[in-house]
Amino acid sequence: MFSQISLKFHKNYGVFFMKTKKILKALSHNNVEVHTDKYLKDYTTFKIGGRAKIFVCPKTIAELKRTIEICKSFEQRYFILGAGSNLLVSDKTLNIVFIKLAGSFNRVSITHPAPAGHPFNLEGNLKEVRKRAGGEADGVFEEHLKAAGEVLITAGGAVNIYKLNNYCISKGLSGLEFSFGIPGSVGGAVYMNAGAYGGEFSDVIEKVWVLTDSGEVKCFKKEELKFGYRTSCIMEHRFVILKAAFKLQQGSSETIKSTCKNNLIKKIAAQPYNKPSAGSVFKRQEGVVPPVLIEQCGLKGLRAGGAGVSTKHCGFIVNNGGATYKNVSQLIAEIKKTVYKKHGIMLKTEVVIVS
Ligand SMILES: Cc1cc2nc3c(=O)[nH]c(=O)nc-3n(C[C@H](O)[C@H](O)[C@H](O)COP(=O)(O)OP(=O)(O)OC[C@H]3O[C@@H](n4cnc5c(N)ncnc54)[C@H](O)[C@@H]3O)c2cc1C
Repeated sequence: MFSQISLKFHKNYGVFFMKTKKILKALSHNNVEVHTDKYLKDYTTFKIGGRAKIFVCPKTIAELKRTIEICKSFEQRYFILGAGSNLLVSDKTLNIVFIKLAGSFNRVSITHPAPAGHPFNLEGNLKEVRKRAGGEADGVFEEHLKAAGEVLITAGGAVNIYKLNNYCISKGLSGLEFSFGIPGSVGGAVYMNAGAYGGEFSDVIEKVWVLTDSGEVKCFKKEELKFGYRTSCIMEHRFVILKAAFKLQQGSSETIKSTCKNNLIKKIAAQPYNKPSAGSVFKRQEGVVPPVLIEQCGLKGLRAGGAGVSTKHCGFIVNNGGATYKNVSQLIAEIKKTVYKKHGIMLKTEVVIVS
């Protein structure tokens, strides 16, 4: 019996190994940047995560499209990695192709007013301009925007939110100050509809360009994406976020910078920024504030190995050093069980679990 099981294991291992080799070969034929030696703990803010068998960094839409096509042709699971700030990743070797957008996905530009002939200039999308202007002559919509002091900027999916905020400060663009201090990427922030201090990304999103599951590049208006609290229909449709356009207001760089700074000060005062974590582990629900319930259950500071419920903010689980995937999973399970027992409320996990 034992030898049968072990034979089966070796056979499966052989199949996985061959498949990985074939995927690597197909990817390298397409000149996509591929790695086999990446540890996910270096790509997550939790500092937890095992080795990715394949880690790909597409720099263009064509490279991304081809990477996904290759994964699909081998029935290989893949995962789009942002800045890794909302993830709990298994510390085993993961038979998943991790895709981290790079290169052209790191660009930020002003779309409107944009230089004439710029591909993102709204002039290039006359149909939409006319529609938004209520059928008025070409360019009228742009005039409306300018008069209202509004500016459209476009940021690629890989752009770091901190970089985006600094861009806005330098150009005097207001609207994204709420997000200063959220350690994610544009892709992850749009996907999660990240937010803080009464603002969220969907407040400023104008449109989002995605790669659909069938391999088409599509542009969706905000209203079509059904944004809600930390959610949108992007999740159900397995879209990859390529870039997003944000509608911002012209403002003073000094005021924007000072609002950003104040938001960060508030965050640092309230949250354990000095320890690795993935932010709030549980979602707020109607009338439910998870950190309050967790504290009322006496779980503040509860530990499992190197992981612990933060003593500063009970909604955070922190890595005190050497925390494992299992340690954090144990804490999540314990918190859910205890809160349910005491309050009759089943907490929903906000952190995305990859195992
Ligand atoms: C200290 C700290 C403070 C935080 N504070 C806040 C806060 O105030 N508010 C808040 O909302 N969040 C907060 N977070 C959580 C986190 O920063 C956000 O959820 C952020 O938006 C995640 O972005 P990311 O790029 O890191 O995504 P990741 O964590 O890498 O991924 C999250 C999900 O997004 C998907 N994804 C990423 N990029 C793309 C893409 N291009 N296309 C499609 N899917 C994609 C991933 O597949 C995954 O499912 C905090 C986290 C930390 C560590």
